[in-house]
Amino acid sequence: MSEKWVYAFGGGSAEGEAGMKNLLGGKGANLAEMANMKIPVPAGFTITTDVCTYYQKHGRTYPQSLAAEVQGALSKVEQVMGMRFGDPENPLLVSVRSGARRSMPGMMETVLNVGLTTRTIPGLIKKTGNPRFVYDAYRRLIMMYSDVVMEKAAGVEPEEGRGIRKQLDDMLGEVKKAKGYKTDADLSEADLKDLVARFKTRVKDVLGKEFPDDANEQLWGGVGAVFSSWNGKRAVDYRRIERIPDEWGTAVNVQAMVFGNMGDSSATGVAFTRNPATGENKFYGEWLPNAQGEDVVAGIRTPNPLNDATKNAQNENLPSLEAAMAGTYKELDAIRLNLETHFKDMQDIEFTIQEGRLWMLQCRVGKRNGPAAVRMALDMLKEGLIDDREAVKRVAPNQLDELLHPILDPKGEAKAQPIAKGLPAGPGGATGQIVFNAADAVAWTRQGKAVILVREETNPEDVDGMWAAKGILTARGGMTSHAALVARGWGKCCIVGCGALHVDSGSRTLKVGTTTLKEGDFLSLNGTKGSVYAGQIAMVDPTSDPELSNQIETFLKLADKFRKIGVRTNADTPQDAAKARAFGAQGIGLFRTEHMFYGGGENSQKALLQLRRMIVAKGEPERRAALDELFPLVKEDIKATLAAMDGLPVTIRLLDPPLHEFVPQGEAERKRLVEVAGITLADLDKRAEALHEVNPMMGHRGVRLGVTFPEISEMQVRAILESAAELTKEGRKALPEIMVPVVGMVAELDHQRAVVDRIHAEVCQKYGVQKVEFLYGTMIEIPRACLTADKIAETAEFFSFGTNDLTQMGFGFSRDDIGGFVPDYVEKKILPADPFQILDQEGIGQLVRMAIEKGRKTKPELKIGICGEHGGEPSSVAFCHRVGMNYVSCSPFRVPIARLAAAQAALEG
Ligand code: ADP
Ligand code: MG
Ligand code: MG
Repeated sequence: MSEKWVYAFGGGSAEGEAGMKNLLGGKGANLAEMANMKIPVPAGFTITTDVCTYYQKHGRTYPQSLAAEVQGALSKVEQVMGMRFGDPENPLLVSVRSGARRSMPGMMETVLNVGLTTRTIPGLIKKTGNPRFVYDAYRRLIMMYSDVVMEKAAGVEPEEGRGIRKQLDDMLGEVKKAKGYKTDADLSEADLKDLVARFKTRVKDVLGKEFPDDANEQLWGGVGAVFSSWNGKRAVDYRRIERIPDEWGTAVNVQAMVFGNMGDSSATGVAFTRNPATGENKFYGEWLPNAQGEDVVAGIRTPNPLNDATKNAQNENLPSLEAAMAGTYKELDAIRLNLETHFKDMQDIEFTIQEGRLWMLQCRVGKRNGPAAVRMALDMLKEGLIDDREAVKRVAPNQLDELLHPILDPKGEAKAQPIAKGLPAGPGGATGQIVFNAADAVAWTRQGKAVILVREETNPEDVDGMWAAKGILTARGGMTSHAALVARGWGKCCIVGCGALHVDSGSRTLKVGTTTLKEGDFLSLNGTKGSVYAGQIAMVDPTSDPELSNQIETFLKLADKFRKIGVRTNADTPQDAAKARAFGAQGIGLFRTEHMFYGGGENSQKALLQLRRMIVAKGEPERRAALDELFPLVKEDIKATLAAMDGLPVTIRLLDPPLHEFVPQGEAERKRLVEVAGITLADLDKRAEALHEVNPMMGHRGVRLGVTFPEISEMQVRAILESAAELTKEGRKALPEIMVPVVGMVAELDHQRAVVDRIHAEVCQKYGVQKVEFLYGTMIEIPRACLTADKIAETAEFFSFGTNDLTQMGFGFSRDDIGGFVPDYVEKKILPADPFQILDQEGIGQLVRMAIEKGRKTKPELKIGICGEHGGEPSSVAFCHRVGMNYVSCSPFRVPIARLAAAQAALEG
């Protein structure tokens, strides 16, 4: 731990800099950096994240030397700003702000105007000659401080809707209503003076304590509250979703206040150096005259547009900053360019204008959605701001997911009439059932329903519900509101500031004009346009937009330059195969033969019937008769897929699932089966009974079927080799790889190899060729296979890790039953994540590493890939790169994600 706990900034220099995010948090490090860049930043200091760690570990106490360091830093601030904290003549006020390493918008607490007391108020009034402003600042302090420090940090849990902030808000609302005011800015000095007196009484009544009237007590109360907020519910929820480690802690920034609420030449705003929703290189933001800090993000008033580029249907009649304060806007625009050139990325900034003077309060790398991320990376590369390696790193692999996610079907949308329009905060489409609170969103989603979370205003306490919902819709809030930021970060469809909505979460109804919708009714959102529709609209694949797909393609080609390992796809049909090739798949890593029986089409039905006949067959002759009928159907499917991949490798897995899975249950199917099989229903029951297993996942499946019934393998191998032989004869290329599943011992593989060799000889003879090109290999999905991989590699020409089963058997977790306990494990931090989604590198990963090492010792050229779900999960793909696999294989829609993840892994070296 470092010895120095406090870092000062301001007055044109700083003790910290942008590289110190771990210690100073993102906000503190960048405030220091801006101070070093001579950008106007109110002076302040940062208490390090180490202090947070100390505070949490030592029962909410501080290191011994902290108080003195804070005092020293505060004196510097006083010097730079020419005011004194707690001074009755010339009082300095400060903000106490949280700031973690990575931004967690709205998840933690900030208190403004700290230092206002009955001692300092008269001095500030005298100095500013603006009593209205002083009482406005004071009422804000009381609202924030009582909420953040006296209630939340003190662990007071008010009844729903009875939190102190809400109560004070309501008092304020009543005054506005009684006097017919439209906004907070209409409150007079007298109103505010009266209100603060009543606020203090209410605080005392509700929380049982006086509102502190001492500047130092306020300061330390604020510092402790920020540190405590690190362990507040919403911060913890957010960290879990974003995978931010709990140990990081937050820093606290104490900073001289500047005031945007001193009258009409004062203002506050939030902006992005480029448009975060589209990526366009245009300054983009919102501002409010005569307002302070939170007002823009809180969605209290519809914010004004920064400039023409920011105008939309909601704000086009409000004056832009560019028009209202041309000089200050120019200054801000210059800072915007300065910041982009310096940080070489899009920045999200906060600023305040105090009586015409501009101050910067924050800058950080701005969140953006997938389309914007791709566009910015390509643009910045073109502009020479970044190089190609950096451009590839600029898009998170999962952001590509959004680009490939469904949108509302334009045809369906054209026919529908929007019931309302809001701000397009998070693009893409969503359709689902309305819920009115976060808890319902979570609960309904658990039940498998698609929900749209509808709220009056954006509320950062709703994160878990926002995460669960397919889409988010709010009546209030702007493009820079907390919910908009959070949704955009996740690539979630989101519409905010939809003023026409009347949301009544009490009665769970939503009124728009004459339409009334209830909980459970369907709603569809177009988050790219901001349109809201009643009812369901079908969703479609967005890659039909040519401009977007061009950009994705250009970007992925750039990534491919760095990628070292191949990306294949898991595809079971020629259609899937074609789709995956379009996404850039370099082969099929897993073709599951059994899927041809699930298709539902005419051929599938036919095939399924014969398969069932084969399953219930008694003795080899009956089984062979069924297999003979099945053969042409299987062959047709395999040949079409090999043809679609046109010379790219296709790994075909022999029949894997336990046979009883295919036994028909419905009466009609049972009747059809007994007919073709020539048996009675009673026979069928008896034979099905015989197939019953106590633990089918570890039962008669995979290679075990081939050992007991070699004729099943024979049929499949013949279909594969004949397809390849025919395609070669037709002058095309085919590269089948025969993959045996559920192998634990090399002897199993040898046994099947003999079958393969025999069939190969027969096929060669039939087509009059020397040999048919193919590889013979195995899934590695049983721990014993990993332990004996050196032996297995004597027979296998390739390994493909089946990490779903390997995880199942390595953990002893039944894949189909994890719902009951894995969420608890994650919640209680026994597991960092669901190991079926994110490969457990520590445990299962060791099995993988060992198998690769052992396998390659026997056969250095051994081809190795992965075909479990993990093959499309970015951190797992990076692992596959590191352990030296030749390729990963994943579902078609995840191919672009895997390409990018693999490229980024290679760039990391
Ligand atoms: P968050 O991380 O939730 O954005 P911040 O610490 O950035 O919280 O503060 C909330 C709001 O208060 C922001 O709009 C910020 O610009 C404003 N603010 C914070 N400190 C000051 C200050 N010293 N003077 C004026 N406004 C401030
Ligand atoms: Mg902020
Ligand atoms: Mg398996």
